[in-house]
Amino acid sequence: MKLTVLVDNNTYIDQYYFGEPALCFYIENGDKTVLLDTGYSDIFIKNAAALGKNLAEADYIVFSHGHDDHTKGLKYLEKAQVPKAEVVAHPECFVPKYVGDLFVGSPYSKEQIAEKFGCNATAQPLQLGENLWYLGHIPRVFDHEISSIGYKEKDGVRADDYLDDDTALVYKSKKGLFIITGCSHSGICNICEYAKSVCGEQKIYGIIGGFHLFEDDEKLAKTVDYFVANKIEKLYPCHCVSLKAKHRMMEKLDVTEVGVGLSVEIE
Ligand SMILES: [Zn+2]
Ligand SMILES: [Zn+2]
Repeated sequence: MKLTVLVDNNTYIDQYYFGEPALCFYIENGDKTVLLDTGYSDIFIKNAAALGKNLAEADYIVFSHGHDDHTKGLKYLEKAQVPKAEVVAHPECFVPKYVGDLFVGSPYSKEQIAEKFGCNATAQPLQLGENLWYLGHIPRVFDHEISSIGYKEKDGVRADDYLDDDTALVYKSKKGLFIITGCSHSGICNICEYAKSVCGEQKIYGIIGGFHLFEDDEKLAKTVDYFVANKIEKLYPCHCVSLKAKHRMMEKLDVTEVGVGLSVEIE
């Protein structure tokens, strides 16, 4: 499995790719290719071309959740550019989302995506190729990870948005599980626990993605404790992890700086 970062907040010095506060990963795994999220603009298309990654190879476009920094890039993609790809997401991913008056949800409805690209909206785990799973609905088991952002609007009713749609991918490597996540609004510890149960494997080797950790608070401390207790060998925090949070992780764990163009290869 080879994962290449097509979009992240960070870019590396002397490597001239585009960055934005958003996320998109290109995952090559045997005969299947998966795009996780599409960023906020068209830069995932430009960066893919610059990095020699062919979007036409994509078999699946998985959305980690409905926020527009993960879904809005789809607006810039035509079906002809991804002829094979079907969208896979949680059924709640396309529910309109707001923060105050600002719309922060998917640019398309489920019906529009189904018509344009094909859509498998499922809360169940789904195997996307050899040793690679989409997790679907993440059960919330840790109290310290419960939080909401803005509100969602369903059938004319507004409710606090706990991001029920937030999901992740997991690759079952020879070294243990490798978790691939977007923003981890469902909680990175919750994601790890569910990945273990879906894959029937207790060892977590590594994690890449956003953990939605910003403050030096109890939530961060409990998350770092969980990573240490699980002996996670490789951490690639990005997108929505503050410098303070990375610093706390680096005190006890092996942390790699993520940026556009980074490739992680694991057997
Ligand atoms: Zn988000
Ligand atoms: Zn995000």
